[in-house]
Amino acid sequence: YNTIKMESIVFYPAPDRGHLISTVELAKLILSQNPSLTINIIVINPPIKLGSTAPYITAVSATVPSIKFHHLPTVSMDPNSYPNSMAIMFDHFRLVNPHVVDLLRSFSRDFTVRCLILDLFCFPALEIASELNIPAYYFFTSGASCLAVFHQLPNLYETTSQDFNDLHTTLLKLPDFPPIPLSHMPEPVLFRNNPECLYIIECATHLKKSAGIIVNSFESLEPKAVKLLSSSSTESPVYCIGPLTTTAGQTSENVHECMTWLDSQPSGSVVFICFGSMGLLSKQQLREIAFGLERSQQRFLWVVRNPPSENQSKDPMNQPDPDLDSVLPSGFLDRTRDRGLVVKSWAPQVAVLNHASIGGFVTHCGWNSVLESVLAGVPMVAWPLYAEQKINKAFLVEELKLALPMNSEPESGGLVSAAEVEKRVRELMDSEEGDSVRKRVVMKRDEAMAALSHGGSSRVALAKLAESWMRN
Ligand code: UDP
Repeated sequence: YNTIKMESIVFYPAPDRGHLISTVELAKLILSQNPSLTINIIVINPPIKLGSTAPYITAVSATVPSIKFHHLPTVSMDPNSYPNSMAIMFDHFRLVNPHVVDLLRSFSRDFTVRCLILDLFCFPALEIASELNIPAYYFFTSGASCLAVFHQLPNLYETTSQDFNDLHTTLLKLPDFPPIPLSHMPEPVLFRNNPECLYIIECATHLKKSAGIIVNSFESLEPKAVKLLSSSSTESPVYCIGPLTTTAGQTSENVHECMTWLDSQPSGSVVFICFGSMGLLSKQQLREIAFGLERSQQRFLWVVRNPPSENQSKDPMNQPDPDLDSVLPSGFLDRTRDRGLVVKSWAPQVAVLNHASIGGFVTHCGWNSVLESVLAGVPMVAWPLYAEQKINKAFLVEELKLALPMNSEPESGGLVSAAEVEKRVRELMDSEEGDSVRKRVVMKRDEAMAALSHGGSSRVALAKLAESWMRN
């Protein structure tokens, strides 16, 4: 008999929360447009905690039966022999690749595999896909501007023998882009001889070997970057299908105390301060923020985590809750009780940003946070900490004008002073500059809704993507 095989799309995300959840949300979106598909998702299990995704995976498995998760066997590696969590994760992708080959072969026996959609970091699987004749697409979980910069990394790496970390005045200049000092590149590439740097350069080199790059953004958010990316015939085609955001893992049965507190605040009056899932600040920095917030006289909701501990670089997401009395200045909580709330470790960010009392967001510029803020129409102050966040800041502040900058003192090892916190928070909540950023964000929110609706640019891009994998 000639049986007709079911069609499948295989996803291979990086395992950390930010990457995995937005990839699964993309899978759900594709499924909603192509209901006859089965989605197979490959999940690796590195020997480090990267924020628990298990409850999310269980919830999706229970509610969307066409999405199937396949957990790869663990590979033996000694986490203590690596300098940080990035290095562990990158080596893990190489070690686990034979299992990915086996899995892809077995999928190909059972299904017509239309395509593999993999994370930038999972490039070792690209060659297997090509051997099996499966078209491979990347899902880039940051923005189009950042993707344009990533494309330049291999070239930049070749043109200097110095560490990017030392190149404060050497600028990456792309047409119509704000100039970005090379020292603002993602920290894994700052030191050229680190294995993590070489891995990222390889990731970037492989981008153009794919059938296409799916980007979690929408065209009118980053028109210049989209134009630049589509003008080069040597690059893979780009599909901006976003913004994809989710409240997954943020809701619980009990309403978080901060939501009840927000209910009692005046409309648009509260600034929300939160640094993503991995942003940890020193005790000294926490104190500067506290004094800055206090002097700003503005209402605030602040998520405070413990300062980094010695082992933090290997396990940034699993800090115990802070003892607020010991990390914040003495008397701060009492003095600000009538206009501020500090929550420990985690707040339901999407719900918070969408609360009518929120009027501004001090963010570490993680791409999910940026999109969530845009979709909630909340203007930002950009305070980047790690990964590609300094690049995001440059675009948000200088090009897109959706955020005001938070600047550190170069002489003080990157510390942001209380005076700067006070100034920027005031500017965001109570000035003409703040108002003009607010107006632009609201405009972008409306454009985002249009992009996602029937006939909008992101819907059209998704349909083109499906056409392309059918052709390949
Ligand atoms: N988040 C949250 N509460 C927190 C901190 C983070 O809900 O207290 C969520 C936030 O809404 C976002 C994600 O965690 O969806 C963080 O992703 P992002 O890309 O902004 O930063 P990352 O954590 O990957 O650096």
